[in-house]
Amino acid sequence: MFRALLLEQDDEGVVTNRIATLDEADLPAGDVLVDVEYSTVNYKDGLAIKNRNRVVRSFPMVPGIDFAGVVAQSSHGDFVAGDRVVLNGWGVGESHWGGFAQKARVSGDWLVALPDTFSTQQAMAVGTAGYTSMLAVLALEEHDITPDRGPIVVTGSSGGVGSTAIAILGQLGYEVVASTGRPAEADYLRSLGAADVIDRAELSGESPPLAKARWAGAVDAVGSTTLANILAATRDNGCVAACGLAQGVDLPTTVMPFILRGVTLAGINSVTVPRIRRQLCWERLGTDLDPDKLAGMTTVEPLDALPRLADEILAGRIRGRVVIDVNA
Ligand code: NDP
Repeated sequence: MFRALLLEQDDEGVVTNRIATLDEADLPAGDVLVDVEYSTVNYKDGLAIKNRNRVVRSFPMVPGIDFAGVVAQSSHGDFVAGDRVVLNGWGVGESHWGGFAQKARVSGDWLVALPDTFSTQQAMAVGTAGYTSMLAVLALEEHDITPDRGPIVVTGSSGGVGSTAIAILGQLGYEVVASTGRPAEADYLRSLGAADVIDRAELSGESPPLAKARWAGAVDAVGSTTLANILAATRDNGCVAACGLAQGVDLPTTVMPFILRGVTLAGINSVTVPRIRRQLCWERLGTDLDPDKLAGMTTVEPLDALPRLADEILAGRIRGRVVIDVNA
């Protein structure tokens, strides 16, 4: 038997959550059984627990889009009992039971062997948010955005994607400008590696087709008019990595930044990334994300704090990363 956060839907479509005691036989099909040690709270987990944006596709559901733990049983060729593994994406916590549980049964094709540089708790301090930041930084690099090209703006900067993006970019030598709605977090953002902190209101108004060229690149976690303003103010041949929707799903922009400045809008989707790129990401996270900075942005909470944490992340009140100790 094991404990899990379980989402259930009644005949009227109302979704509730509770900490349930489940049997291994309840777990979905898969060729690897994992003893989960840690999971984490991502924005999408907040949406899932609160049944918003149709994140959860079937009920009952154990949410949690990522986890790290130790293989308990495996009939998959790449994993044996005792291996330390990490998983994010592939619909886990959305259409397949996820990480807010002491056990998970999944396809071994979705797992990545956890590099020795990370404990399972550190892996979940990184979590989907940090791994997505790394994907965004890789996209900037692949579009030749080197530190000498100029400032990189990071939006949603006090959140999980933003905090980790600042720490990675800062460590790599970029001049990082953190955009936040929480001016009280300025010292925190500077401690992670931001050279400057701006009020997110500067970027959230209606966007002109083009504005004074300011950014060499961006990691944008919020979308909407903020993303439009960033595109309009991106320098020639710059690159904007778009990964989030915290402000909104709309993008009221024009073609001008693309056809007059050669700006690239790079879409980031962490869910279906092939394993080889995931492994590259985890290797890069091992060298480019300072473990002390990661620890400084992370808190650890028990499984039964999840409903409260879901409200907090959707309200934009979580700072940095929250790890869930599923055995606490
Ligand atoms: P967090 O809640 O931790 O961070 C989001 C941050 O966005 C907040 O902390 C806040 O930062 C800012 N924010 C909140 N509301 C608004 C608003 N109305 N207008 C402008 N800024 C706002 O979430 P995560 O970091 O986990 O995720 C960030 C986004 O990235 C989410 O939309 C998430 O769905 C997406 N995401 C996408 C992935 C992908 O694969 N594409 C993977 C992971 C996340 P501040 O207070 O500093 O302004």
